[in-house]
Amino acid sequence: MEFQAFNLHPVIAASIKEAGYVTPTPIQQQAIPTVMQGRDVMGLAQTGTGKTAAFALPILNRLMEGPRGRVRALIVAPTRELAEQIHESFGTLGRQTRLKSVTVYGGVNANPQIQSLKNGVEIVVACPGRLLDHIGQGTIDLSHLEVLVLDEADQMFDMGFLPDIRRILSHIPAKRQTLLFSATMPPVINKLAHDILTDPVTVQVGNTAPPVTVSHALYPVEQHLKTGLLLELLQHTDTESVLIFTRTKHRAKRLGEQLEKAGYKAASLQGNLSQNRRQAALDGFRDGTYQILVATDIAARGIDVSQISHVINYDIPDTPEAYVHRIGRTGRAAKSGDAFTMVCNEDTIMVRTIEKKLGAPLERRTVAGFDYTVPAPKKDAEFARPPREPRPTRKPAVAKKSSVGSINPFKSDHPGSKPAGRPQQGRPAAAGGTPKPVFNSSRRGK
Ligand code: AMP
Repeated sequence: MEFQAFNLHPVIAASIKEAGYVTPTPIQQQAIPTVMQGRDVMGLAQTGTGKTAAFALPILNRLMEGPRGRVRALIVAPTRELAEQIHESFGTLGRQTRLKSVTVYGGVNANPQIQSLKNGVEIVVACPGRLLDHIGQGTIDLSHLEVLVLDEADQMFDMGFLPDIRRILSHIPAKRQTLLFSATMPPVINKLAHDILTDPVTVQVGNTAPPVTVSHALYPVEQHLKTGLLLELLQHTDTESVLIFTRTKHRAKRLGEQLEKAGYKAASLQGNLSQNRRQAALDGFRDGTYQILVATDIAARGIDVSQISHVINYDIPDTPEAYVHRIGRTGRAAKSGDAFTMVCNEDTIMVRTIEKKLGAPLERRTVAGFDYTVPAPKKDAEFARPPREPRPTRKPAVAKKSSVGSINPFKSDHPGSKPAGRPQQGRPAAAGGTPKPVFNSSRRGK
């Protein structure tokens, strides 16, 4: 099947060609004709399957006809990164359509958003919090809305956005086309779908299994040896672009610093960063300035770097769904990728749950030459670090007073996030003896 079969508007067909898409992905084959018919759709697809174009193409096609300068399509997404990525896809696929899209999310000045909305746009890609602010302040007019897309609905639920979604729904026309995409279908999303979709067609790809192009491996290791093992893995693996996941923001920040100290071009992406710094980390990862990005699940949501060669779970995720999401970052759109997960004894149950979900056992690997017998340092066994020489004692630093009570202009769009700029405990990163990175760009399987 080819894209011509959809009979899309010629300027859209031209952009598809320019984007280098030749064959529609399975979700696109199923969803595009259905959305073009005006039907509501329940899309069960993980990230990396081409689901953005599956809704963006028929929306662009629809908007070619009819009035301009009013909001006719609204896409709601859980994170700013995903919103930006969707906005970019609309930009790429709608390059010659003269349709305009704007992103709306918190953590940045609202005025440019207000100005764009005033100037007239047809497509809004929004995170729930800031969108509600605009609705409340009357700076967005959704009365002409024709299509609503809820993307990554399960993640929006995980992030506590469901009440916001319901509020948004009460402010938009009841007569509309609604598309709901989710990688998983927990009962609460099933109920939401039941409530808001009219006679929906369900389109589904895979069974929330990660892309088949990804090879998985587990690396059993004690908690305190994780960083050492990671450095060893990086040194001996032909990696091009590595996304590393940690359990907490703090661990992401510290691991990013440790990798930098070890000579890698690494950055961390976590919710405590300002929007500018998040964007700089993402852009740097995308353009190759950083070869390693360390991130938490929430921060990494929506990252689309098509050449990610490896995903490394420094910490195992909390759910099998999160595992699938993370692994979906590599092997995107049929590129091959490797996924390594470090596991400790306490992760046994989660490993079993993930294997059950995947329907196959995961390969256990050890790294030859790595000393797995190094004992844990007495303190701070939680964060892995090779034992180091004691440092000369210093005067304790005087803690600076932080300014409290002022309005934080970088208020996040994530309900669970804390204000930025909390002072970190300044611990030194991994001590010497760290290997030099060996990045080989001639990776197989590209
Ligand atoms: P998504 O699942 O929407 O995040 O898309 C994953 C990646 O696949 C993005 O980099 C898209 O640009 C790319 N992609 C989407 N559709 C196609 C296609 N039909 N052919 C090749 N690449 C595609």
